[in-house]
Amino acid sequence: MTDKKCICQETQHHFLKRAFDRLKLKGTQRELLLSSFRETRVTVPVTLCHNGENTLHTFQGYRVQHNHARGPFKGGLRFHPDVNMGEIWALAQLMTWKTALVDIPFGGAKGGIAVDPGQLNDTEREELTRRFCQKMAPIIGVHEDIPAPDIGTNPQVMAWMLDEYSKTHGFRTAVVTGKPVELGGCAGRLEATGHGVAHLAHRAATDMALAPGQSRVVIQGFGNVGSHAAIGMADKGYKIIALSDVHGGVFSEKGIDISLALAHVRETGALSGLVDSAPVSNAELLELPCDILIPAALEATITCDNTDAIQAKLVVEAANMPVTHRADDQLQQRGVVIVPDLLANVGGVLASYYEWVQNLQQFPWERELVLSRLEKRLSYTYDTVRDLAQEQQVDMRRAAYELAIRRVERAIRLRGF
Ligand code: GLU
Repeated sequence: MTDKKCICQETQHHFLKRAFDRLKLKGTQRELLLSSFRETRVTVPVTLCHNGENTLHTFQGYRVQHNHARGPFKGGLRFHPDVNMGEIWALAQLMTWKTALVDIPFGGAKGGIAVDPGQLNDTEREELTRRFCQKMAPIIGVHEDIPAPDIGTNPQVMAWMLDEYSKTHGFRTAVVTGKPVELGGCAGRLEATGHGVAHLAHRAATDMALAPGQSRVVIQGFGNVGSHAAIGMADKGYKIIALSDVHGGVFSEKGIDISLALAHVRETGALSGLVDSAPVSNAELLELPCDILIPAALEATITCDNTDAIQAKLVVEAANMPVTHRADDQLQQRGVVIVPDLLANVGGVLASYYEWVQNLQQFPWERELVLSRLEKRLSYTYDTVRDLAQEQQVDMRRAAYELAIRRVERAIRLRGF
């Protein structure tokens, strides 16, 4: 856990320092861009029932509001046992660069609770969410800070957040995004991140002359993002040869039928045992011969320990920070093309922005409109990053950070703080 915390912060620091040097930013500019506006830590008490006995437990909750020069803070809420202030700090930073890169009027934030949500029943999860929301209510708001789902949270958690917040502030649908559609959620929001990942993977693959029919895809992670990325890639004609979830992976040289995999997970709760597939561990999966690798699980899954074994020509970062900075250097040196997280998975927060706009206007859009606007904006952002990368002879991560930082730095200067 400590290692991961250090790696996340170290990786984020490294990418930023490199960009600050390229942009020739001075000490105070760097300090303003690096420091958080506010870091909040709360203790959340919840009564848990174990073997028929009720016991009071406490959980640590966090919200880092990094920067709001371009608009209200925006970012997900994560429920995971490894959550800590360092990780949330790095992820909050990443949100600032994501919203700036895709040019939506938000800043960046991230929150989380150190908890294994799978160990709680629905009533306990609801209680945990409501108590966390009560403690965070003074710092969130429609024009202040707008949480959304992340790892371990979902539309139901957002519905509880909305309900709890509304008890004291009136019904404010725009205070969270990623809500159920019945409560002002955006049609297409659930699949938006994975859909965007597939769209951008296809754009990058096309640039590299990797034809869908001949390209083998490996996806690590089969949660909301990984599964929708798999659906998107399969729809475009790519052959998905391996998939994994927390329990392990499945492999098939012939290609995996994604609708069968989804049905199998619905029935059994895991991918293992899928028909016509061989078991493969999460570590082996990353090293399989393939053309496109999509890490869609946690951060720091690709490190110096496994970069040498990675055979993909294209890595599309569906997860946040799946590649450490040293692994990134090694992969770039070997000529592996990486579509970086702040570009690859930005479809999620982009759809969140569309949801927020619809809530403010009380005017819902149809799913087709959401997805077509999403694809158009993602394509435009991809073109801008790729063209800058080519012009400056750098990789897409360097180009994306540069574009995003320039926008935030300019907003700070214009606003005068
Ligand atoms: N949790 C997602 C992310 O990391 C979405 C955040 C949002 O929609 O605000 O980008």
